[in-house]
Amino acid sequence: MSSEPQVVVTGASGFLAKYIIAEFLRRGHSVRGTLRSMGKADAVRSAVNRLGADPGRLSFAVADLTTDAGWDDAVAAASVVVHTASPFPISQPDDAEILISPARDGTLRVLRAATKASVARVVLTSSTVAIFYPSGRPKEHIYSEEDFTDETRPDLTAYFKSKTIAEKAAWDFTESTPGAPKMVAINPSFVQGPAVDSDLSTSHELYRVLAKGTYPAAPSIMFPVTDVRDVAVAHVEAAFRPGIGGQRYLVGEGQLTLFGLGRILARECPDLASKVPKFELPDFAVRLAATFDRKLQTVLPELGQKKAYSNAKVKTDLGLTLRGADEAATAAVRSLRDLRLI
Ligand code: NDP
Repeated sequence: MSSEPQVVVTGASGFLAKYIIAEFLRRGHSVRGTLRSMGKADAVRSAVNRLGADPGRLSFAVADLTTDAGWDDAVAAASVVVHTASPFPISQPDDAEILISPARDGTLRVLRAATKASVARVVLTSSTVAIFYPSGRPKEHIYSEEDFTDETRPDLTAYFKSKTIAEKAAWDFTESTPGAPKMVAINPSFVQGPAVDSDLSTSHELYRVLAKGTYPAAPSIMFPVTDVRDVAVAHVEAAFRPGIGGQRYLVGEGQLTLFGLGRILARECPDLASKVPKFELPDFAVRLAATFDRKLQTVLPELGQKKAYSNAKVKTDLGLTLRGADEAATAAVRSLRDLRLI
């Protein structure tokens, strides 16, 4: 096997990236992960080891989404780049550009470097938030890869905007730039499944918030869910399958409410039962409270919404079998308990 990496995974320190890296390594590929600093390299090696992969063929390069430095070296000699890195904070900044700029400009930096290096394919980690918020869809609409969020909607959070704008910019670039890699976008819903270490994603931070008793009652919001193990397989399948360049894949199986997440937390950790939300707030109460509490404004577009969606394409094209929402959330809670983080 060549000593050069076949695959580059950006944002190697991320929750999802560790699973993607482990999946590539288990399948015999060499991987170069990008980090903002080498300080997290050992933690990533340990994490992929815990996931049953040998980190012997894992190397690292330093590159930050906010600057050009390092990206050419990071992607050199790769045949595939999987771009997962993007800011994903639990609370939203006042200035949306704080998230949009690294998401969009960082994605373009990765794509420019990949084009220079004649990389054949880029797999972009987008999100269902870049699908579920177009304008003017009827309530009964079944969302799918055909839908694109309208980033001009005034009710979008900064994170939703950042993911949508980054994905659209990536399609514009790959479709208009001669020699650009073929792109495949993976659009996961809320990613659950086991945390592998204490460097938690927003996916798991939410349980810590619930476990602290911060929310005695929950707004009635529902979101599609998926398991990190399935999302990782989707990325790896998308890396080499022929004939899927230009496709998007929505990855999700079932839905959970915030209240439902709390119920799972209480079921798995009975000592936390008194901390989780006791009931769902009526929508009118949330709307009223949001006039005083800006944090609540981010949930307003979700009130009373249950989004029907199709996950048929990822099953057909990429051969995935998806774990259900309850299984994914239960695995998340159990892992946090095992790690003594809740
Ligand atoms: P994490 O927060 O665990 O990972 C985010 C990664 O992006 C980290 O490696 C982080 O590096 C890196 N990153 C952030 N800002 C920069 C920057 N300026 N330069 C370089 N790297 C940066 O989140 P997840 O693993 O959950 O998310 C991974 C991807 O999946 C993201 O693109 C996210 O939008 C997407 N996604 C996640 C979902 C979820 O529910 N978790 C759902 C749908 C999509 P560092 O460790 O240095 O901070």
